[in-house]
Order: sequence, then structure tokens, then C-alpha cells
Amino acid sequence: MRNMRIRCLLEGVNHLLLPATCPACGKVLAFGQKICPDCKKQMTYVKEPFCMKCGKELKDMEAEYCYDCSHKTHLFTRGLALYIYNQTVSRAIFDLKYKNRRENGIFFGEELALRYSSLIREWEIDLVLPVPIYNKKKVKRGYNQAAIVGKRFATLVGVSYSEKILYRQKCTKPLKTMNDRERAKHLLGAFAVKEEGKGRRVLLVDDIYTTGATMDACSRVLLKAGFSQVYFLTVAVGNGV
Ligand SMILES: [Zn+2]
Ligand SMILES: [Zn+2]
Repeated sequence: MRNMRIRCLLEGVNHLLLPATCPACGKVLAFGQKICPDCKKQMTYVKEPFCMKCGKELKDMEAEYCYDCSHKTHLFTRGLALYIYNQTVSRAIFDLKYKNRRENGIFFGEELALRYSSLIREWEIDLVLPVPIYNKKKVKRGYNQAAIVGKRFATLVGVSYSEKILYRQKCTKPLKTMNDRERAKHLLGAFAVKEEGKGRRVLLVDDIYTTGATMDACSRVLLKAGFSQVYFLTVAVGNGV
């Protein structure tokens, strides 16, 4: 009891000295708040019905898969995202990636755990891995944004976590302007695995899911290394990007 009171007091002092700010707009938050009410309204959770493969929201209640997933084969088993990609979500992710707002990654990791911790048991996940970035980029930026999200998430849900097993051995360009085939070709040989999978089921964590090219490229090397299933969770999912 006494310890809890001291902890509360310390948190209060910390808040006065270093007040937390909103992950999306940067406004100073009230004590205990994790996001400002205006941005909270703008961050829309992905909801059912969603694609049983990639997690994109579906308009058709009867459909099982989105257009993309019913026309191509993915190597991962399935995945889900937390938010629909919009301006507010994009700003919070941009600041996490390029403005050293690592606390945004912590926020996303906690949100993912609140929403999807039961999935970890349902999918029987043995290991959480962040989608890696190229080492030179990591040195320049100081961190991998997906790793901040993934580590927080894995800690909260109590699953093993590693940043060493899956790595990026090729510096890749942004995939935005490439079509499906170009993306796959560009990512060929981009990822590698350092450890035998031994039938374990892995969950990849990344910031955004768009076409699934990155998830497929990671899945290819993980399955080849002996992991049995690859699932994923992302902070946001693009709308048919
Ligand atoms: Zn805000
Ligand atoms: Zn899909």
C-alpha cells in the first residue's frame, strides 16, 4: 500500500516535470490520459467484418476475404491491424518513425495488447518478432519503430520476443510507388533468419500493412527456416493501398 502511494506520488511528480503529450497532435495531456479526446475520436479501430487473411475491413458482411486476398496467395496465416490508416494515425506513426517520439510506439504496443491479447492464445503464438529495418537505418535513427511497438506488446502479453532472429540484409527503397510484382522482386533476398524455427508459431509486428509484400517476404524466410506459422499485427492498415 505504502509502495503504491509512493509510486503514485512519483508518477505525479514526473507528470509535473515532464508532462505526457498526445501521440497524435502533441498537446500536453491531463494526468493519466494517454491520448487527447479529440485525437482519440479520430483514431478508428479496425472492426468486423474484416478480411480473414489480412485484416482489412470489409464492406460486404458475407465476404470472407478482401479483393486482394481472394486474388493472391499470401504466405502468412493471417493478421490484423489496430487502426484504419488516416491522417491522425499517419501523423502518430510518422512522429514515431522520424521525430524520435518513441513513446508513440509504447502507446501503440499497449493499445495492441489491450485489444488483441486474447488472439495470442487463440493463435498459439510462441514468439513475437518486429519487422526489421536495415542496420544502417537503425544506427541513423537510433531504433526500429516496429521493435518499440513489438517489445511493449510482447512484454504485456507475456510472450517471448527477439530482435535478433529476423534481420534485414538488404537496404530496400520505399515500396509506395511499386506494383505487387515490383514489390516482391525488390524484397527478394531482403530478409534473413538467424535461428532454426523448430515448428514455432511466430507473430510479426509492424507499423503499417498495405499490400502484404513485406509480410510475405518475411514469412518466406521464416517458413524456410522451420517456423510453422506466421501471423502479424500492425498499428494501421491502409485502405486498398
Ligand atoms: Zn491529440
Ligand atoms: Zn485481405
